[in-house]
Amino acid sequence: EKLLEVKHVKKYFEIGKKQFLKAVDDLSFDIYKGETFGLVGESGCGKSTAGRLMMGIYTPTEGQILYGGKDIHALDERERFLMKRNVQMIFQDPYASLNPRSTVREILAEPLEVHGIYKNKREELERIYELLEEVGLNREHAGRYPHEFSGGQRQRIGIARALALDPEFVICDEPISALDVSVQAQVVNVLKKLQREKNLTYLFIAHDLSMVKHISNRIGVMYLGHLVELTESKSLYRKPLHPYTEALLSAIPIPDPKIEDKRERIILKGEIPSPVTPPSGCVFRTRCPKAMDICASVKPEWLEIEDHHYVACHLYDGKGSPAATVSSSANQ
Ligand code: SF4
Ligand code: MG
Repeated sequence: EKLLEVKHVKKYFEIGKKQFLKAVDDLSFDIYKGETFGLVGESGCGKSTAGRLMMGIYTPTEGQILYGGKDIHALDERERFLMKRNVQMIFQDPYASLNPRSTVREILAEPLEVHGIYKNKREELERIYELLEEVGLNREHAGRYPHEFSGGQRQRIGIARALALDPEFVICDEPISALDVSVQAQVVNVLKKLQREKNLTYLFIAHDLSMVKHISNRIGVMYLGHLVELTESKSLYRKPLHPYTEALLSAIPIPDPKIEDKRERIILKGEIPSPVTPPSGCVFRTRCPKAMDICASVKPEWLEIEDHHYVACHLYDGKGSPAATVSSSANQ
């Protein structure tokens, strides 16, 4: 059952006369109830913008986002208020997103009060204690301030706040990127436990593929505002199709030091091009180790190559031929 449908969504920011930053350029995918959809790409690829579009914070320049079958930008006031309860966000930097002058109790009470959930303070406080326990903290923490906690604990507070209103969809925008590797897995485990208990649907945004596979059912890989590959988590790791996905995968360290890492690390040349002046044809071509002539002139189509495995690349659409590979086409 589809919870969210993203349909040909574009988000362009005007930055000057007839100059647009194309943060998201024709994004389409669905998110199903109860799943975790991973959205992965380097910083600046548009994934946070995509998250904000799905929250309704940004309005698409073109295209539509349906939540429960309804266009989120055509909701009446009551529906919008309900959606604000049902869709919550967890941020990358819990410290920046938690008011340093508020106690944990005040931080968790805020959404409950805005939405008028409890009539009396005692019930509200019980709910706050319950939320703290659900994320692995306890009632003694309620009177403390954010700076008194470790990074991992602060992110647990951010999670508790996101869950206060019993949402059905949670957008996790790089929730573990700012944390030590040692606590990343703990936070992921908290998120997984809560998903099971509360039947939550997640969008999990990340800049690399290392942790995403432990939480995602399906993964979409984004580059320069475009989705370049989308499939089930297992297939993406077992059989990546897009050259950008291959590069991201090759960058994941093998966690066990006893296993010798024999893989070849694919180093991408150059920087991500500006989203104001993206390359013609395939947006990845300026950094693609497999770029061909056609890649500079023709934009690859989004095709289902195998069951539920989508990719946009001329290596798979029958238009590119390996013999046509040239290095000069890699220059813009
Ligand atoms: Fe590389 Fe061409 Fe495929 Fe783009 S279309 S990813 S440049 S091979
Ligand atoms: Mg971001």
